[in-house]
Amino acid sequence: MCGIVGVINAPDAAKVAYLGLFSLQHRGQEASGISACERHHINTIKGKGLVTDVFDAAALVRLGGNMAIGHNRYATSGSKAVCDAQPVTATYALGEISIVHNGNLINSDEIHDSLVRDGAIFQSQMDTETILHLIARSQQSHLRDRIIEALRVIKGAYSLIIMSRSKMFVVRDPHAVRPLSIGRLKNGGYIVASETCAFDLVEAEFIRDVRAGEMLTFEEGKDDFISEQLFDETDPRICAFEYVYLARPDSVIEGKSVYEVRQNLGRKLAQISPVADADLVVPVPDSGISSAIGFAKECGVPFELAIVRNHYVGRTFIEPTQDIRNLKVKLKLNPIASALKGKKIVVIDDSIVRGTTSRKIVELLRHAGASEIHMRIACPEIRFPDRYGIDTPSYKELISVSRDKDAVCEYIGADSLEFLPIDDFVASLGDERRYSLVSFDGDYFIK
Ligand code: AMP
Repeated sequence: MCGIVGVINAPDAAKVAYLGLFSLQHRGQEASGISACERHHINTIKGKGLVTDVFDAAALVRLGGNMAIGHNRYATSGSKAVCDAQPVTATYALGEISIVHNGNLINSDEIHDSLVRDGAIFQSQMDTETILHLIARSQQSHLRDRIIEALRVIKGAYSLIIMSRSKMFVVRDPHAVRPLSIGRLKNGGYIVASETCAFDLVEAEFIRDVRAGEMLTFEEGKDDFISEQLFDETDPRICAFEYVYLARPDSVIEGKSVYEVRQNLGRKLAQISPVADADLVVPVPDSGISSAIGFAKECGVPFELAIVRNHYVGRTFIEPTQDIRNLKVKLKLNPIASALKGKKIVVIDDSIVRGTTSRKIVELLRHAGASEIHMRIACPEIRFPDRYGIDTPSYKELISVSRDKDAVCEYIGADSLEFLPIDDFVASLGDERRYSLVSFDGDYFIK
């Protein structure tokens, strides 16, 4: 999944990048890193964990610079080792370079193997390092041309930021699968980030989204940037799952508020799969909240935050005892029994992947005294692994691959279960645009 940020021509660029990464923390919690260019030298600090685990004030001062790029990692390719954290920084024929990537390349293994056969040495398993090798091996005399040559070879979903000692290149693949937006900083300079929520935190003004197949070149000390269209044909297909789950609700992607889209998905669900005589609409926090608000508004049933989420369960939490049933889910979610007792409830979540979360939630809600539990899911059934930068498990782990809707309902133990059919889902996104819907329809359109 991953979140990326680039800052140029701003004093304290590393600090701005840090704030940007902080607001993109939801896109990846495994590792975090920042490269900053200070007096024509690129410094990189990266490590495992959250942004706040990796950086302290001294580290940001050490980074310095008026140009910086940053990355939050959620492993979709490569391992969880610290050498797989980004940015990836290297010295090649034209000097120092640093790169961050959000997305997933579909021909990375092929390129990697051929480079290794040719004698290349890799330090990580990331497809990002493959891009760096392609740039380094190009015989072109300008970085711009080397990047373009590398982009002719790679296939897949990529939002990239590449920093040299004096320039920053920003690229989005010809399908614009993963989001990337440009903002203007208050005191001059620019910020580029995966989501606009990063601009709000640093008080940057949103300019526009980076276009499909576009490369932007920013230069140190120059107040403007150059835009080039690198591909003859583009076919924008922003990933619909950004709107379902991945993005923060306070972000605006391709002109659409994620919060409003989620509300629309909930409204549509209420229109096509209402629950007669329901007492309450209850979201699974946090992922189901916006859709549940839409559902409740549409059907006029009271909305209750009757499941409470503990936000402080980190990835490294130790389970000190084995004999508490469902400890993992209880650590995160706790129902409010007094609000639920004897109630017929509609539970809204954004998606079902393996089905384990829903099954446990239903069990907790029954235990808390709910009389009937009707699950409504604000997207279609997930039947295909995403290969374009979202971490979905293999076919055999996806519950909707091996079970039809009724069997999933039985598995999770709900009284009824409905998903949003794909046509209604697309209609709720609210325009004629094409989307990446791979998880739902298996149309792997990047060949
Ligand atoms: P599961 O137990 O596998 O069915 O998990 C479903 C829950 O995970 C949903 O409540 C989603 O909010 C969340 N979710 C959906 N997609 C992902 C993903 N790619 N990575 C992590 N969590 C996800």
